[in-house]
Amino acid sequence: MRKKVAILGSTGSIGTQALEVIDKISDEMDVIALSAGNNVSLISEQIEKYSPKVVSVKDETAVRSLEKKYPNVNFFCGENGLLHIAGLDEIDILLVAVSGKIGLKPTIKAIENKKDIALANKETLVMAGDIVMKLAKENGVKILPVDSEHSAIFQCLSERSEVKHLVITSSGGPFRNSTKEEMEDADLSEALNHPRWKMGKKITVDSATLMNKGLEVIEAHHLFDIDYDDIKVVVHPQSYIHSAVEYNDGSIIAQIGNPSMHIPIQYALTYPKRVEGVETESFDFVKASKFEFFEPDLDKFPSLALAFEAGKKGGTYPVCMNAANEEAVFAFLEGKIKFLDIYKITKNIFDEYTPVQNPDIDVIINEDAKVREVTKKLIAEKL
Ligand code: NDP
Ligand code: MG
Repeated sequence: MRKKVAILGSTGSIGTQALEVIDKISDEMDVIALSAGNNVSLISEQIEKYSPKVVSVKDETAVRSLEKKYPNVNFFCGENGLLHIAGLDEIDILLVAVSGKIGLKPTIKAIENKKDIALANKETLVMAGDIVMKLAKENGVKILPVDSEHSAIFQCLSERSEVKHLVITSSGGPFRNSTKEEMEDADLSEALNHPRWKMGKKITVDSATLMNKGLEVIEAHHLFDIDYDDIKVVVHPQSYIHSAVEYNDGSIIAQIGNPSMHIPIQYALTYPKRVEGVETESFDFVKASKFEFFEPDLDKFPSLALAFEAGKKGGTYPVCMNAANEEAVFAFLEGKIKFLDIYKITKNIFDEYTPVQNPDIDVIINEDAKVREVTKKLIAEKL
C-alpha cells in the first residue's frame, strides 16, 4: 500500500533529503503536504514538482503571493499551519523535520490524530519526552526515529529486557583534535565545518560542542526507555558504526554503513519495509579498513556531561538546558559571543534554574519561554 506522507520542514537539510528519498521510491509514497519557514522559492519549486494539496509557510504575506500562483493548493501559515497539516485525516505518516521547539505541538497533534511520526526534530523528545512517548503508547502510534544514531539503535533492538547498554557513536565534531585554546578562538566557519555531515546551522554548532550528542542521549532515554546509566557515548571519527546495542550475553549488535542521512530517513518512512533507495553502493569493509574509538573528552566538551545531568535530574531541567543552549547558539551564529561562551552561558543559566517536576505541555512551553528571556538578558549584559 502506498503511504501518504506530510513533511514539516521540507526546505531544510532533512526535508530536502527526505524528498530525494521519495524521488527514488515514488511508487511507495504520495506527498500530501509540505511546509517551509522562510524559503519561499524552494517551497515553490517543491509545489511544482510534488503537487501537494496543503502547504504551510512561516508568514502570511508569503501565503498571499503563493495563493495567486498556485490556486489549487490550500495554504496556511505559522504554527497554525503546521498544526493543520498534523491534523490532516488523509496522511499516514508525518515527518517532523522542522528545527526547534516549533516541532513539539504539531507532533503531539499528529499523535492525537493517530498518525505515525517519523521524528527528526530533537527538541520534541528533549523537551517533552515523557509526555510524547506516553501519548504515543496510548494512541497506538509509532515514533520512528530519523536521527541516524536512534535509527541505528531502533534497527538493532530486539528484546528490551536483555539489553545491557546502548552505545551511541559520535564523530567527535570539527574540534575533536583541537586544544581548548584553539576552541576559544574558533570562528563560525570552523564551527560549521563538520567533518561528516551537512546539516542545518543549529545542529552543526551543537555537533561542535557535543551538545548534539547530549540531546541524543536524552532522546535515546525516552525513545527506548533506557536508564541514563546504561547509555554510553563513544567517539568514532569514521562514523561507519551509527550506534549499537550491547546485550546481557556480551553480544553487540551495531548498525553499519556509509554515513548518509538518506538511509535513516528512508527507513522511518518505509518501516517496516526495506526498499532500494538513494544509496545503492555497497559498503566496502576493506576500503573503510579503519574503525577507531575514543572516550569523549568531557573537559573539552562539558556540554555532553551537562546533558546527562539535565536528563538524570529530569523535570524541566532538559527544557532549561535546551532553551539556554539554543539561545546561546543563536548568539554565536550572530557573532555576538565566542564559541566557548555557548557552554558557559548555558551552564550559568542551568545552575541558577528552579525546575518544575512532572510538567504538562503548557508548563514546558512556559518554562522554555522564561529561560529564553533570561538567557537573552544574560547575553545582552555580557556584550
Ligand atoms: P534546517 O535548519 O536545515 O531546516 C529546518 C527546517 O525547518 C526548514 O525547512 C525551515 O524552513 C523550517 N523551519 C525553521 N523554523 C521554522 C518555523 N518557525 N516555522 C516553520 N518552519 C520552520 O535543519 P535540519 O534539517 O538540519 O534539522 C531539522 C531537525 O532535525 C532539527 O531538530 C535537527 O536537530 C534534527 N536532525 C537533523 C539532522 C541532519 O542531518 N540535518 C540529523 C538528525 C536530526 P526554511 O528553511 O524555509 O526557513
Ligand atoms: Mg545524530
